[in-house]
Amino acid sequence: MCGIFGIVQAESSQSLGLPVGCLSGLAVDGLTALQHRGTESSGLVGADGVERQHMDIVKGHGLVRDVYTSENIGKFNDSVILIGHNRYSTSGKKSGINCVQPFVVYTAVGCVAISHNGELVDAKKKRLEVLHQGVGLSTDTDSELIGQMIAKAVALNYKCRRDHDPGDISRELAVTVSAFSTSYSLLVMTYDRFYAVRDPYGNRPLCVGTVYNSSSTEALAYCAASESCAFPSTAKLDFELQPGEIVELSKNGIKSVCQMKPHTPSAMCIFEYVYFARNDTIMEGQQVQTVREACGKQMALEDQIEADIVSNVPDSSTAAAIGYSIQSGIHYEPCLHRNPYVGRSFIQPSNELRVSAIKKKFGVLKKNVEGKRIVLIDDSIVRGNTMSALVKVLREAGAKEVHLRIASPPLRFACFMGINIPTREELVAANRDIDQVTQFIGADSVKYLSVEGLQHVCFCLCARQCNPFTLFQAVQSGIDKSDTKFEVGHCTACLTGNYPVNIDF
Ligand code: SF4
Repeated sequence: MCGIFGIVQAESSQSLGLPVGCLSGLAVDGLTALQHRGTESSGLVGADGVERQHMDIVKGHGLVRDVYTSENIGKFNDSVILIGHNRYSTSGKKSGINCVQPFVVYTAVGCVAISHNGELVDAKKKRLEVLHQGVGLSTDTDSELIGQMIAKAVALNYKCRRDHDPGDISRELAVTVSAFSTSYSLLVMTYDRFYAVRDPYGNRPLCVGTVYNSSSTEALAYCAASESCAFPSTAKLDFELQPGEIVELSKNGIKSVCQMKPHTPSAMCIFEYVYFARNDTIMEGQQVQTVREACGKQMALEDQIEADIVSNVPDSSTAAAIGYSIQSGIHYEPCLHRNPYVGRSFIQPSNELRVSAIKKKFGVLKKNVEGKRIVLIDDSIVRGNTMSALVKVLREAGAKEVHLRIASPPLRFACFMGINIPTREELVAANRDIDQVTQFIGADSVKYLSVEGLQHVCFCLCARQCNPFTLFQAVQSGIDKSDTKFEVGHCTACLTGNYPVNIDF
């Protein structure tokens, strides 16, 4: 999973006197808002709208706040267009600086920069094709492959271009990306415009918006991002790209330039709703937080338990815990405080070390826990080690019972579309039944949201065909069907083993 962001200055913004550095500042803010999608590295590439053979680049490892400084961001003072990327690697080496995106390739029409979110399921085959055509690759990432294939398409079409606008590579881009099935959401930039591309399955999200000056109704800039939470506060979300859609953003505005044949139904990653996306993002027309709350409500409908409090594992499961509490009527009370200064907890080799790591990360609100029967809500369980340590910590603090409720179905299968889900052997639910998982975690009981429940939450309110007693507006509830040309669907492969494409194992 990665985060991508792009912005281009609007023609009308010149009369509004856009301050120097404003555009790059908005780009850094956008990447900061997408930090949850990738923390390994960040990069920005800018162009001045005139020079075709040069782009300015700033890249580095670490968080956005560590990569960009007032000095290096000054490089972009003349930029009228920028695209950026936060990386969470699934292919390619984690540490190599040449794997940090956006990639820049020199093509027959000038520099082209690429930011990619997703993982190409057919990358291995395409990589061999490219190498056998004599094209050298400098990394083992699938994203560089896309850049080289665009360069090749530009070269092949070069004679036909003659009087063609040099910044317009829409045709070459469409030819290149239509050779891939999934998973990609891309930003592809030439010297004066950029393209936003969503794959025909719609596996990764992508949306576009217009930035307005706070004192004017004139457009200041146009932007695209993995999630709408990355847009500036004065921006309006214009639309989410349809699966297979290619959109051009330039100083003249936003226009749809190509529609590849979409896969039916689409296969947006359902884990965007469960875990990845930020609560305040609008996805498929609805707020992610609302969907998560509906998952909690649905889970309570499927459950019958007597308990004193409902609580959450901060912060990602808060919305689901609130939903569960509303539906079940069991009082919500926090029982864990998350230390915001403790980073990612690494896998510890023994249970003692895991409990110690958890204690650093979470403080227990002892007064809320002592003698209580707790329904503890989390969004998902991967290996189960963290959860078993958490249950132990709550018991040590005096919890009478700990009943774990997971606001998504059991993770049983690997992901080949850009999410680092461990191998099946490592997934706690892959080869265990519910009693064995409960025993492994050490909880009094464990229950997951059913696949049907999640899909129900995902589908029913949009279709408005479900039993009214279980009708909760969630994953697709806010979708205006009249605005959607295609049958909407979600990838649930890591839960069901039903992959949207044939995976070449
Ligand atoms: S397999 Fe799971 S994580 Fe991967 S794209 Fe599908 S739903 Fe998302």
